[in-house]
Amino acid sequence: MSLDVARIAGGPALTQERRLVTAIPGPRSIELQARRTAAVSAGVGGTLPVFIVAAGGGVLVDVDGNSLIDMGSGIAVTSVGNAAPRVVEAVQRQVAEFTHTCFMVTPYEGYVAVCEALNELTPGDHAKRSALFNSGAEAVENAVKVARAFTRRQAVVAFEHGYHGRTNLTMALTAKNMPYKHSFGPFAPEVYRVPLSYPFRDGISGPEAAKRAISRIDKELGAENVAAIIIEPIAGEGGFIVPGEGFLPELVEYARANGIVFIADEIQTGFCRTGDWFACDHEGVVPDLITTAKGIAGGLPLAGVTGRAEIMDAVHVGGLGGTYGGNPIACAAALGAIEEMREHDLAGAARRIADVMEPRLRTIAERSGRIGEVRGRGAMLAVEVVVPGGTEPDPATTAAVARACHAEGVVVLTAGTYGNVLRFLPPLGIPEHLLVEALDVIERAFLVP
Ligand SMILES: *Cc1c(COP(=O)(O)O)cnc(C)c1O
Repeated sequence: MSLDVARIAGGPALTQERRLVTAIPGPRSIELQARRTAAVSAGVGGTLPVFIVAAGGGVLVDVDGNSLIDMGSGIAVTSVGNAAPRVVEAVQRQVAEFTHTCFMVTPYEGYVAVCEALNELTPGDHAKRSALFNSGAEAVENAVKVARAFTRRQAVVAFEHGYHGRTNLTMALTAKNMPYKHSFGPFAPEVYRVPLSYPFRDGISGPEAAKRAISRIDKELGAENVAAIIIEPIAGEGGFIVPGEGFLPELVEYARANGIVFIADEIQTGFCRTGDWFACDHEGVVPDLITTAKGIAGGLPLAGVTGRAEIMDAVHVGGLGGTYGGNPIACAAALGAIEEMREHDLAGAARRIADVMEPRLRTIAERSGRIGEVRGRGAMLAVEVVVPGGTEPDPATTAAVARACHAEGVVVLTAGTYGNVLRFLPPLGIPEHLLVEALDVIERAFLVP
């Protein structure tokens, strides 16, 4: 895929370069920011107040004519690229044919085709069914509904550092107070949190961490009361925490032995992001249910729950659905995006991104002394920033480095329970020269005291 010049279908060709023609943000962005403040709820957060007019390949172009390197993909969404031509064509075709019928009223093929693709691509070769929704949080809510209906049990086990969304049930599942939960309670009941495997901080092996979590479930809840265990195979918002090897397989085994539905939340990790179709694939983990969203549809809102046929079919007819879930335009976009991932082996592209980024990030870690760990998989990489010489989280330096990158035209995101993780989620087709340039900027930001 040649992305030196990414052409937005029907629009301008975007030169793949970092180009700053004003300060960041520029004057037109500042004007728009003032309108935003007057019109948009202050509760809606913001990473970088530059207003975007075009994006593609590895760049975001703003209203002032600045071209920024995209190391965030709109939070792991535009993995196939922004306005990817295949997605644009599929959407344009569909929007001109029909925009909505409601799949529960009169169905259409696109929805079925996306479910077929999900059933085929997700881990495990057992019989599967899927259902489609609008957002990740909605998928997680529905996965829990399905697990409860199937098991006739209520308790749901989630993990420290977990993130599953911002609706009431998913806030309960999410581990972090600020900004996700603060002042928004009471939360949904029957949600229980147990320790994750966090090798950098807990110093124990994956199997030992699994034993610790399982013991908590047994002692505090009783396995026979647990409907589901839900976990991100790599904790996303929690700081790209890769659990110790063996942690996930032992949890799956425990769930299977006790009639508990094992739900993998692959909303951030899925669709080639980690160098395979799904993060579960790396350890051969086969979840009972899997939730997907973000990278699935090239930027259009779509989410799915996929799982064992007998579990997914245990819900009464009409128990699952929603007005917009599996909207035909979003489905067309997903089919275009999935075709793109297959044809251009974007899982391989994610691994190549890691080959470029990981050694550089390790060098930056050595030179700066401020990085406790470089971790992640594929094109889902992060550095955990600490006070030199120990493991004490350093959120102030993390924020300063992010600000410095933004000012230099590189869009990076932060994450982590302690706010001390810089995370990198570039579009999978980002040209290598942009990746290298972004790393140069990141290195400079770390080396300036
Ligand atoms: C983003 C995310 C969600 C929530 O998805 P929304 O589309 O924002 O509702 C849930 N789980 C994980 C792991 C996520 O990264």
